[in-house]
Amino acid sequence: MSNWETIIGLEVHAQLSTESKIFCGCSTRFGSEPNANTCPVCLGLPGALPVLNRRAVELGARAALALGLNINERSIFARKNYFYPDLPKGYQISQYDQPFSARGTLEIMTADRDEAGRAHEWRPMTINITRLHLEEDAGKNVHEGLPEVDRYSYIDLNRAGVPLAEIVTEPDFRSSWQAYDYVNHVRRALQWVGASDADMEKGNLRCEANVSVRRIGDTAFGTKVELKNLNSVRFMQKAIEFEVERQIKTLEAGGRLVQETRLWDERLNETRPMRSKEEAHDYRYFPEPDLPPLLVTNDFVAGVRASLPELPGPRAKRFIEQYGLSYADASQLTSDRSLADYYETAVTASDGNARGAANWIRSELLRELENAGLTAQNSPLSAAELGALVRIIDGGKISGKQGKDVLVEMFKTGKSAAAIIEEKGLVQVSDTGEIDRVIDEVMAASPNQLTQYRAGKETLFGFFVGQVMKASKGKANPRVVNERLKEKLK
Ligand SMILES: [Zn+2]
Repeated sequence: MSNWETIIGLEVHAQLSTESKIFCGCSTRFGSEPNANTCPVCLGLPGALPVLNRRAVELGARAALALGLNINERSIFARKNYFYPDLPKGYQISQYDQPFSARGTLEIMTADRDEAGRAHEWRPMTINITRLHLEEDAGKNVHEGLPEVDRYSYIDLNRAGVPLAEIVTEPDFRSSWQAYDYVNHVRRALQWVGASDADMEKGNLRCEANVSVRRIGDTAFGTKVELKNLNSVRFMQKAIEFEVERQIKTLEAGGRLVQETRLWDERLNETRPMRSKEEAHDYRYFPEPDLPPLLVTNDFVAGVRASLPELPGPRAKRFIEQYGLSYADASQLTSDRSLADYYETAVTASDGNARGAANWIRSELLRELENAGLTAQNSPLSAAELGALVRIIDGGKISGKQGKDVLVEMFKTGKSAAAIIEEKGLVQVSDTGEIDRVIDEVMAASPNQLTQYRAGKETLFGFFVGQVMKASKGKANPRVVNERLKEKLK
């Protein structure tokens, strides 16, 4: 295997988070009745004319800027002609030789993984982005869950005309984990700026990988295989890994590869051919005559840029410098924007215990969120309350161990830390002045025991501890009670 080099290029299709479709006013809502969100434009009826949705351009610009790409002042919509039942017009409106953005670079962080999939040594890597263009999605053929699916194909055109940004890279990746880190980077960036929900399960982020291998030292590319049906970033990584091994084995056994499209079968953990032979595509692209060139002014781009939040990369860097976090902490806390916001609110509420807040979020809160299938955004335990809990623990009011139970209870009930500590009577009194006062009361109320103890009956020490704990209603810190009693009973 070590004589071989892997070459991977990626295409990501991200659905832009508009309310309506890219060339008509139909809703983009997911999960509507089949064909409910259609009109003459997206049904491709004769004479219907497309009108570009300004919001799709804004979100496309947010996506491009979040990835550090330039936006072309002028881009052209083009018809990509092909025949398929889910494409009623017989062509898809896309962009071809003059796309929205072209020839960019993107810096990502990537790491090799050990057998258990653990990352080590994160390092930067520059990826060349061929293009980011805007286009409409096609509809969907449905072959499952409907009557007589063995006899009929069903067509749902709700998705036809939904806006997409397609992001294409050069064949720059040399391992499945680099591809994995890249797609995660893109997904986070698009979610971060609100350009796309980028939810692979709902199909609003889809990726395809072009994979080939060649002997180290060769300059020509090997036969490439296109992988589809990659429903999660992890499946994509596994599919590439499987495919690389399959290609090397085939070539080492003296076999030949065919250029084809293969699908990932997540049940069998393998790729299988989708079409026996890739037909040479001839899409006969030509400029869309019903849409004028898309002109984007500098003012428009400046306006979009000014409206972007602090991006994940710079924010992670700031977390490291400002809060003294490790790279791992900072990158986890900036894995989504709501979590980064959550963290900073918690730091403020904790009176600036940046490391403490990071630890409580990473070790306790994220586990609770994951178990409940929630994110920081809809956490029942607010950032301000988590910060308050950290502050209370720092103040010695309750122990860290008690704090863990309190956090779980806060998460479950949505109550404040103070309320739960009060309810459970968890408050620990460690204040020596307060404990001394209780001890004085107990000593005054037990003159006989005091005389006997001082005469040498040391077994009475336990009696005094019991009395003090009782008088403090169990809230006194037992360690402090012991120390102070030894001192005062002398
Ligand atoms: Zn429509």
